[in-house]
Amino acid sequence: MNIYFASGNRHKRDELSRILVGHTVIMPADEGMYFNPEETETTFAGNALIKAKALHLLVQKPVLADDSGLCVDALGGAPGILSARYGSENGINLDSGAKNELLLSKMEGITNRTCRFVCSMVLYLAPERFYLVQETLEGTLTSEICGSGGFGYDPIVFVPEYNMTVAEMCPAEKDRCSHRGKAARKIACLLGDA
Ligand code: IMP
Repeated sequence: MNIYFASGNRHKRDELSRILVGHTVIMPADEGMYFNPEETETTFAGNALIKAKALHLLVQKPVLADDSGLCVDALGGAPGILSARYGSENGINLDSGAKNELLLSKMEGITNRTCRFVCSMVLYLAPERFYLVQETLEGTLTSEICGSGGFGYDPIVFVPEYNMTVAEMCPAEKDRCSHRGKAARKIACLLGDA
């Protein structure tokens, strides 16, 4: 099945494509579409639904949306839904390395370093027919950047069960334990009935 993915993030698309075997994941940019809806909700689930509805309006085909981020307990869940925009000012976005350094600097001297990646994923088939799955990956924040794989906050999230950061995992390892991997496998089951 062709599934439109309500995102401009190629890393997320690659992860999804590895899991949704037999399906083609198409991003709006692949078809020259401008897609950048305002994420005005206060939860991952709310923002995932905004993206899903907005793209479904445009394409009128099955849509998948992902809203995700990193929640740090000692920071009251920040950066959370603002993960992509963390540290940005006047519309200027920090790159991933700068966001990671900023977050580690806010955590200096803090011993409670528990955190989790969260992924809300919506399979939107019609306005009256959609599925929402939300999954997590539990970890602890490192004190320095570690590893070069993955994207975003992967180099600063250590996963005790794997004894490495997410950025030190190979793609198959990340897929197995990640918030997005777990959510996408549930969506893959639903796609069988769609
Ligand atoms: P969204 O596009 O609004 O869902 O923002 C997601 C942001 O959360 C990304 O830009 C990353 O900064 C972060 N994020 C989400 N998932 C991951 C992941 O699997 N690894 C690292 N960072 C992630």
